[in-house]
Amino acid sequence: MSEQPSPDELLASLHVVSIPMRVRFRGVTEREVALVEGPAGWGEFGAFLEYEPPEASRWLRAAVEAAWTGWPDPVRDTVPVNATVPAVAPDAVPGVLGRFPGATTAKVKVAERGQSPDDDVCRVAAVREALGPSAKVRIDANGAWDVDTATDTLRRLAAYEIEYAEQPCATVEELRDLRVTLARKGIDVPIAADESIRKAEDPLRVRDLEAADVIVVKVAPLGGVRAALDIVAETGLPAVVSSALDTSVGMAAGVALAGALPRLDHACGLGTVALLEGDVTAHSLVPRDGTLPVRRVDPDPALLERWAASPERHDWWRDRVARAWG
Ligand SMILES: [Mg+2]
Repeated sequence: MSEQPSPDELLASLHVVSIPMRVRFRGVTEREVALVEGPAGWGEFGAFLEYEPPEASRWLRAAVEAAWTGWPDPVRDTVPVNATVPAVAPDAVPGVLGRFPGATTAKVKVAERGQSPDDDVCRVAAVREALGPSAKVRIDANGAWDVDTATDTLRRLAAYEIEYAEQPCATVEELRDLRVTLARKGIDVPIAADESIRKAEDPLRVRDLEAADVIVVKVAPLGGVRAALDIVAETGLPAVVSSALDTSVGMAAGVALAGALPRLDHACGLGTVALLEGDVTAHSLVPRDGTLPVRRVDPDPALLERWAASPERHDWWRDRVARAWG
């Protein structure tokens, strides 16, 4: 059923945009992505520049699905989106949360280089106090802790009722060991796997080792909305949808996945369009009252023009698309 474009068809509608970011991310200050238009609408191909063809081709498959095949029908009209609290001092927490009106879930960055578990506990305490007892508070360590540090810190953080701890340790084996240790010590903090879920094989390993209670899934690295839905079904674990660093065209794919999941128990990490200084549409997919509408996005030609990358960058992306599709 999925019609596949020829390389020429794929390149015919290619637009490359370069949009400044409000904060430096992954060492860059501009986000460059390619947009393609097919019979089903627009798709975004934004594999990070250093990714080689095998990985980039999964991202491209997701863009082709969006533009040529379209997505499965949603089962909900809106999806809840979490607020994000970077590794700031506790007194900065209310100001940060003020930028996410209506959000009832906050993700708090912990284990920042140069900080201590005390810093993490104080920050999480400030978030809990600001949002009240009914809000959900999750943390993300980006794999920075060893099992002992994770155990000690989660024991302290459990006092603030943690929705889940995202990637507390780096490897799937450590996540499994941590879950066993937490259960043995009666520390009630569920574990989510994020970085451990990058390829189709990874989630099944997370499942087989019983290394997580929740999985974080992203459309582009997994090769599309359908591929991600299949992975979630195969693991049988609750899923949280997260974005890379997308314009609203790419964000619509994440929203489509969150909209189509049979079960959605957690707010999603889809509030990142605001990290870009501009967008390709005037109707950006930015959360309102803590939710995003489930809808498609078509770019505005004038904004494609405004953010158009240089001819040299355009050529670089054409070459990259041709190689990744080949
Ligand atoms: Mg994460």
